[in-house]
Amino acid sequence: MFDKILIANRGEIALRVLRACHELGIKTVVAHSEADRDTKYVKLSDESVCIGPPPPAHSYLHIPAIIAAAEVTRAQAIHPGYGFLSENAGFSQCVEESGFVFIGPRADTIRLMGDKVSARQAMQAAGVPCVPGSDGALPDNDKAVLRIAGKIGYPLLIKAAAGGGGRGMRVVRQAGELLDAIRITQREADAAFGNASVYLEQYLTAPRHIEFQVLADEHGNAIHLGERDGSMQRRHQKVIEEAPAPGISAAQRKKIGAACADACRRIGYRGAGTFEFLYQDGEFYFIEMNTRVQVEHPVTEMISGIDIVQEQIRVAAGLPLRYTQEQVVLRGHAMECRLNAEDAFSFIPSPGRIAHYHPAGGPGIRIDSHIYQGYQVPPHYDSMIGKLIAYGDDREQAMARMRGALRELSISGIDTNIALHQLLFSDPGFIAGRTSIHYLEQWLADRR
Ligand code: ADP
Repeated sequence: MFDKILIANRGEIALRVLRACHELGIKTVVAHSEADRDTKYVKLSDESVCIGPPPPAHSYLHIPAIIAAAEVTRAQAIHPGYGFLSENAGFSQCVEESGFVFIGPRADTIRLMGDKVSARQAMQAAGVPCVPGSDGALPDNDKAVLRIAGKIGYPLLIKAAAGGGGRGMRVVRQAGELLDAIRITQREADAAFGNASVYLEQYLTAPRHIEFQVLADEHGNAIHLGERDGSMQRRHQKVIEEAPAPGISAAQRKKIGAACADACRRIGYRGAGTFEFLYQDGEFYFIEMNTRVQVEHPVTEMISGIDIVQEQIRVAAGLPLRYTQEQVVLRGHAMECRLNAEDAFSFIPSPGRIAHYHPAGGPGIRIDSHIYQGYQVPPHYDSMIGKLIAYGDDREQAMARMRGALRELSISGIDTNIALHQLLFSDPGFIAGRTSIHYLEQWLADRR
């Protein structure tokens, strides 16, 4: 096992990784920017290194500064968290070539999954169901493209192979719009990602977002921990997540979960990962794989009792998974509200000093957050300041506990989205479950 791990991230996930390390008896080094000097996890860390000024390009994305921090502190491994460099194959490669362990998959796996065309092909070969679409990138031949599109049927979605974060996508409703839309998307993709290649997928009109958590080690073992529902989204950002996904049967979970674990074994996957699917009319359609720990991993931890971050670390150290598929028992229901420093309804970011903070507590309540009274939310980063998680024997109890926790939790000095969560947890449509990915945006539009 490692003696010392460098945490190359910030905010709640830096604290989450630190907690996992300390529980495993591993020392930590936090690599932080000037803006994050006074954070709770920097104080709790065994060591810390300031790697640069607040803008991410000069700190959290600055690979040489992070490698140098690992060198001077003699850390053995680097945990990238989520966002920033966590899915950057060049970073993973650089970490390993510098003699450190990257806590995540190999660079070639990140590359394979980072390109949507190669990811789709790998998943099709592994028997994972994908959205009907073109076989690979579109050819440079208008007639052929129109033929491919006609076969898939409209509406269609043009997707950039290198797209990410909801960018590089365009919906096409009829054949007359197709060729122009492809040219525009290619130009945008070339400018944004340096890769103009695009492909086509059938556009699903009202799907749910359901994703499967996997864990795999270097000894050929791979398991799944069931699914999460992340359909409550605004601008492709999840707002509430839950596990299990309402209405998914044990047989469906077993079938899709097994296909994901099998795909991990085929591609030699290592670490924690997520297979994202759209789910419509009883069918699952793979859209992409995330090769890192996700924001919403706690809901899976709550129902499985498995510490996903600790498993990531153990696997990176070359140890085998501690669980077989048969030992994974999912029990109860968990929900997570992302807490953002923003106005609850205009979504305008609200950085600043937290004047007063009173956390929620009681049975089944977990808060993953680095904030404290007097903490200054910096303006340079994502507005998420933590996650409120509620567990119960069933969905109803998890929701009741979440309602209580949302009343108890109190943050002042900055605006937060607590009021939005309070309304959503009393919304009949959300309470009924099985909402589509458009539900929240429609709900917000109807309020106006
Ligand atoms: P990104 O890497 O940018 O997150 P994804 O492939 O995960 O791209 O897609 C982002 C979002 O776009 C999905 O969560 C879903 O809301 C929507 N989306 C993607 N593919 C389709 C599709 N075939 N039909 C309908 N919506 C889609």
